[in-house]
This record gives sequence, C-alpha cells and structure tokens, in this order.
Amino acid sequence: MLNLSRAAADGAHFVEEVEKRSGQRLTHCYQCGKCTAGCPLAFSMDLMPHQVIRLVQLGLREEALDNKAVWLCSTCATCSTRCPKNVDLAALMDALRIMARREGRTRKGASTALFNRIFLDSVRRHGRAHELGIGLQHNLRSGKPFKDSDLARGLLVRGRLKFRPSRIKGAAEVARIFAEVKRMEDGQ
Ligand code: SF4
Ligand code: SF4
Repeated sequence: MLNLSRAAADGAHFVEEVEKRSGQRLTHCYQCGKCTAGCPLAFSMDLMPHQVIRLVQLGLREEALDNKAVWLCSTCATCSTRCPKNVDLAALMDALRIMARREGRTRKGASTALFNRIFLDSVRRHGRAHELGIGLQHNLRSGKPFKDSDLARGLLVRGRLKFRPSRIKGAAEVARIFAEVKRMEDGQ
C-alpha cells in the first residue's frame, strides 16, 4: 500500500516536472494520434509520439525517458502544428531529451544520444559541424571504428568531406549561445 502511494507520488512529480520544463499541459492531450500520423520519423521510432506523451501522462518516468523515440525526434514540429489541442509535442520531446541525458537514461537511444552529444560539441567548438570528426568520434566511441569507412573514403576523394574543421566567422557568437543555453539549463 505504502509502495503504491509512493509510486503515485513519484508519477505525479514526474508529470509536474515535464510540464514545467516543456511549458505544456499534458491533460490537454486526448490521444487522437494526429501527431503520430504526421511524424516523418515515426517509422523508425520504437514508440509513437502519441505513446510517448501517454507514458508521461501516466507518470512512467523510466519508459517515457529511456526510448529511441525521444532521440530520433528531429524537432521538426509537424506534430505541434497538427495537434487539435495545441500541444507542442516538439517542445515536450525536447524537455524529455534534456531530462533523459541528465538522468543518464539513454540506454535504448544510446547511439543517437552519443551522436547528438558529439554533433553539438563540434558545433560549439567550430561554429559548424565537422562531419569527418563527428563520424570518427562516433565510430570510436561506439566501438565500430571502421563503420562506413568506404563511404567516407569516397567522399574525401571527391572533396565532399573536409579533413580539417573550418571555423566560421560567428564562432564566438555560437559559443556564447551554447554558454547561455547551459546557464539556462543549470538554472532549471
Ligand atoms: S495530436 Fe495532440 S491531442 Fe492528439 S495525440 Fe498528439 S499531442 Fe495528443
Ligand atoms: S517534432 Fe519529433 S515527434 Fe514531432 S513530428 Fe517532428 S520528428 Fe515527429
């Protein structure tokens, strides 16, 4: 009995936390599925977007945070524009990604979460993505050093991949944006 009420309290706390971080009222969603029907990446997800929001409504922290869907979401906002209840599901997915990363709940989306971190770090350092560096780091850190090496070689020969990262003019501004986002996240 005690465990049940503890689980209910934890679930309610999780719902409150997600609502605060995403700025969305979860009770507005009535599970019509329009978000999923329009999502261009639903075919590759383990959970459909409307299922992710349902798990949050039910207060199931582990299931809502540790899945591939939150990492595969590209924040295209198609779901948000289609929602008849004005739920910004893209913002919700964003909040779940932040929470999943902070809590280390990235087991099911580990490869995509790792790519996400390496990609953002490359943009933070150079002002733009350095594709070769990102690919190499991802391969090494995911234990597949030679993955897509033939493809990379062909792109290098044709000059479509650069050996060295190029730094853009506004790199300092980009770095400032990253610092500001980090400050905001730490303050939440
Ligand atoms: S479209 Fe909106 S109301 Fe419908 S399931 Fe998706 S989030 Fe919920
Ligand atoms: S924002 Fe994410 S969940 Fe929504 S339609 Fe785009 S990819 Fe799908």
